[in-house]
Amino acid sequence: QTSEAEVVVFSVPSYACQRRTTLENHNAVLTDALALLAENAELSEEEGRGVAFRRAAAVLKALPRPVTSMTELRGLPCLGDHSLRVIKDILENGASSEAESTKQSERYKALKVLTGIFGVGAKTADRWIREGILGLQQLQESGQTLNRAQQAGLEHYDDLNQPVTKADADVISEIVERAVVSVLPGAQMTLIGGFRRGKLSGHDVDFLITHPEEGREVGLMPKVVSWLESQGFLLYQKTTRNSERSRSGHKLWRAVRVDLVVSPISQFAFALLGWTGSKLFERELRRWAGHERNMSLSSHALYDNKQRIYLRATSEEEIFAHLGLEFIPPSERNT
Ligand code: ATP
Ligand code: MN
Ligand code: MN
Repeated sequence: QTSEAEVVVFSVPSYACQRRTTLENHNAVLTDALALLAENAELSEEEGRGVAFRRAAAVLKALPRPVTSMTELRGLPCLGDHSLRVIKDILENGASSEAESTKQSERYKALKVLTGIFGVGAKTADRWIREGILGLQQLQESGQTLNRAQQAGLEHYDDLNQPVTKADADVISEIVERAVVSVLPGAQMTLIGGFRRGKLSGHDVDFLITHPEEGREVGLMPKVVSWLESQGFLLYQKTTRNSERSRSGHKLWRAVRVDLVVSPISQFAFALLGWTGSKLFERELRRWAGHERNMSLSSHALYDNKQRIYLRATSEEEIFAHLGLEFIPPSERNT
């Protein structure tokens, strides 16, 4: 009597920045449920739980085909007991009861609506919910004082919660490009964030601006913002001096969130890598750098804690090489 068994074993490295993750996802049913639980944890300020769910989802996203049984998951990294319970529920019953009940819960629904207001984070939403404010109308009737960001966010709620398409992003790119070259000829603008990774829609459009001559970028941000303002494109702006970063609305046919980042050319590769995402990919890169290489990575620099030196780089490829990682192109950073 012979017995044959075909054993399917997925092998996945444990850091998301060691893996190639395209937009093609063979396990969307599983990862959607885990992403919802991650989002709920984040909105409840349970960051650790949120990251655990995100890491589990990222492992499933990297698999080359759909998971059909729990045995296929043996040996995979980042799958904790809680995530495994969720996956088992879906494989056996077609849906996760926990994800479904979370989605239906009044608290989750209220957190989603309220944090959907630009300028409202989990803390503020939680406070409002405890005061009995569960929706936009209740918020408006409550007489809560809103800051300027939140007023703009409420006013343009529908626009800002509508996904930004690649076509929208292209129109915005042209406008920002015009602003940049008008105020500083020779300055260069690069599309970053999700659109650089090849996503077809996003919640905003992100741009990185630099100039090939070090120092010429100083003072560029306020000039770009003023230009956009003078042309009637700005609805709201918030500039953080330190990070040389500005968020703005854009008024043309609809309001769109735009993130602008200015970087000196010496830091350009680090800014490019740091702002291309995904968020989890960035988090994993920094974790890899710290835990596996004793280095500190930011969107400004890479520091070697052992040699006590900054490691220079003029391209993303060089940064991956410094970190001892295989280069992963933007389209495969969709963890
Ligand atoms: P979406 O398409 O929904 O906009 P995204 O991947 O572009 O998704 P963003 O929130 O726009 O996400 O952020 C783009 C990248 O910029 C992220 O991957 C993140 O690493 C980085 N980033 C965002 N906010 C900050 C911040 N405050 N400081 C440093 N980096 C940030
Ligand atoms: Mn973005
Ligand atoms: Mn952004």
